[in-house]
Amino acid sequence: MKSKQQSIFDLDLHHAQLKLRRTKIVATVGPASQSLAMLAKLIRAGVDIFRINFSHGKGEEHVKLAKLIRQVAKKAGCEVGILGDLCGPKVRVGMFQNDAVTLRDGSTVTITTKDILGAADLIPSQYKGIVKEAAIGARVLLDDGNLELKVMKKGKDTLTALVVRGGVLKNKKGMNLPDTDMKIPALTEKDKQDALYCIAGGMDFIALSFVRRAEDVRDLKRHLAKHKVKKAIISKIEKPEALDNITGILDESDGIMVARGDLGVELPATKVPHIQEKLIRLANRWNKPVIVATQMLESMIDKSRPTRAEVTDVAAACREGADAVMMSAETASGKYPLEAVMEMDGICRETEAHRFYSASGDFAPMREEIPGLAVCFNLQDTLSDAVALLSRKLMVRAVFALTYSGHTARMLSADRPEAPVIAVAHDEAVVRKMKLVWGVYPHLVKRSLSMKEFADYTNRIVHEEKLGKKGDYILLMWGTFDGKGLGTNAIHVHQVW
Ligand code: PGA
Ligand code: MN
Repeated sequence: MKSKQQSIFDLDLHHAQLKLRRTKIVATVGPASQSLAMLAKLIRAGVDIFRINFSHGKGEEHVKLAKLIRQVAKKAGCEVGILGDLCGPKVRVGMFQNDAVTLRDGSTVTITTKDILGAADLIPSQYKGIVKEAAIGARVLLDDGNLELKVMKKGKDTLTALVVRGGVLKNKKGMNLPDTDMKIPALTEKDKQDALYCIAGGMDFIALSFVRRAEDVRDLKRHLAKHKVKKAIISKIEKPEALDNITGILDESDGIMVARGDLGVELPATKVPHIQEKLIRLANRWNKPVIVATQMLESMIDKSRPTRAEVTDVAAACREGADAVMMSAETASGKYPLEAVMEMDGICRETEAHRFYSASGDFAPMREEIPGLAVCFNLQDTLSDAVALLSRKLMVRAVFALTYSGHTARMLSADRPEAPVIAVAHDEAVVRKMKLVWGVYPHLVKRSLSMKEFADYTNRIVHEEKLGKKGDYILLMWGTFDGKGLGTNAIHVHQVW
């Protein structure tokens, strides 16, 4: 009998997926997913963070939704993070008769700042400054750039525009003015109000849209400080100006989002792939989580299966080192929210398994020297390097870290250790914040643990979660008191018993 010939793709075709997915999944909640039953299904399918988009709906409803999510998560026995996404100075069109209109190529339309119902030749703009600020000849891009208008004539409170690229325009779609210098702050009055709804809903992260400089992030921080709260702030990178000021923005933020939707409208879309790669690398270098967002599984809004190109796009984000991948309309208003999450989960797992088993066996992103930045490693950096090395060479099954603020977990994740990081904390808010961080599985314990209790706990979890078996290596990390407050300063190698 002829024996089956081994192919060089054997491993690629037959390796097992990893038990714990390292890349996190962010899913936007909307009409398609806000029922109790669907939220529960999405949590079970692996959503780590739910995003509530303040571009739609009412503040009070978002507070209710956040509370519902908490309730469902509690019932499911797991923690999920909630990200409130402030719309920032995002300009949108108003509402239309029958919720949508079709703009025909070559026709003329009127853009009005009046709060009225639009029609096929009348487009209400929510941005009042548009008439004054947009010059003749300026482009007005609609619906993520799918439709394009050109300003032909300026009136008192209307603009006349030519439809350069027509199509169907639905209620409240985005409007970008890439040729117009808009006189509008990043943190709008509506955002300030919405930030209070984020606080009222107990949300864990606040995303700020159209950030242009570090000062925009500080504005939000000052606003939150006035109300005596601190929240993790995610800066959405979707303006060319933000790229010029990226290091300052990274310093000031708790994480960033590669907001490809608006970024690809404000800049040629062809530039987005390499900007994405660079932003991920920078965020990794800063030890800050990075979310890749928009159109990841876009076709799943109407179809139950993604395109090959979409699958490849999600895999690319995983490989490049994204902490999280995000879905927008796919889960908010699409026909297949659950299937979309399951696809995302499958693509991430498959990609991670391939990297895990492939020759390099190394998740660590390429560390690129950044010009002008002194390379100086501190104790935490070095410890996490050592953990990554130990975890690879000893085939460690899990790294357990006692953490108070989540800082240790973030440092460990930045070096992308092969083994999953189980971060044990006794503060719910810290646990939820860690849901965004690559490869980190936060566990909530009722109180801080003694070292003996911690060791017993880790051994029990390895068996319960089937992470390894007797004799396998695991690492335990904690801070021993040294009188100097070094924080985490010990790595213990244990064998599962
Ligand atoms: P949005 O942000 O969905 O709030 O516009 C994401 C993006 O622009 O990609
Ligand atoms: Mn955007």
